[in-house]
This record gives sequence, C-alpha cells and structure tokens, in this order.
Amino acid sequence: MSVSTPATPQQTSAPTPPASPRLVAAVVRGQRIAVPCPSWCVVDHSAQDLAFLEDLSHAGEAVTLPVRQFDGSVEKVLAAQVVQWPFARESEPYLSVDADGSGECNQYAEPAALAFADQLVAHAERIRCEVGKLGGARA
Ligand SMILES: [Zn+2]
Repeated sequence: MSVSTPATPQQTSAPTPPASPRLVAAVVRGQRIAVPCPSWCVVDHSAQDLAFLEDLSHAGEAVTLPVRQFDGSVEKVLAAQVVQWPFARESEPYLSVDADGSGECNQYAEPAALAFADQLVAHAERIRCEVGKLGGARA
C-alpha cells in the first residue's frame, strides 16, 4: 500500500514591480514640463509658474484638529501634512506640523513623526482621563 501526499501548488509569485510614478504637468519659467508626483500629493503643479525647479514641492492633504474657542469661532490646530521638495538638496518627504496655525512649521522625519503621533495618542488618553473626572465632579 502506498500513501500519496497531495501535490502542493508551486508558489510562483513574481516580485511586485515598483509603482510607476504619476507624471503631472508643472510650469517652470513659462515652460510646461512633466514631473513625477507622488499619489498623496494634492498640489496642482500646473497652476503655478515657478522660477526654479527647486521651488517645486509636493504636499498632501493637511489634517487638523478643530478646537472651539470662547467666542464660538473654531481654531484649527496641529495641522500636519506630508511635504516633499523633490529637487532640493534634502529631498526626502517629511511630516510638516504647524502647531498653532501661525504658519510656523516644524519638520519631522518618519521616526520623529511616529514619536509625535504616539505623544498625541498619549495626550488624548490623558484628556480622556480628565473627562472621566467630570462625572465624578457632579456627585
Ligand atoms: Zn505633487
């Protein structure tokens, strides 16, 4: 008596090729050129006429935290977005954070950006603990 084992299908998965960059139109000194643009970028590069190619920057959608003020207005704080200056000397994308809406931004490379996000999660937990005291304050 012979025992046969079922044949296992051969895994022939080829490595995934890198995604082709999306080419978009940009304008530099009146000349229309094609530049690679990451999928997360929301900038209309054809809407601006740049003096230098180094002035071209990619930017993602900004995420903000709306905070209601005493006068009823809403302040958007902690604006964060991915930014990249692909033709500048330092061309790696980074997280740009404008803490108070002043337009003054700080740059976070990926490890620092993740640490910042972790700090925000910890901050939210501390706020949640403070909110938990509100019910007890009424008693
Ligand atoms: Zn772009």
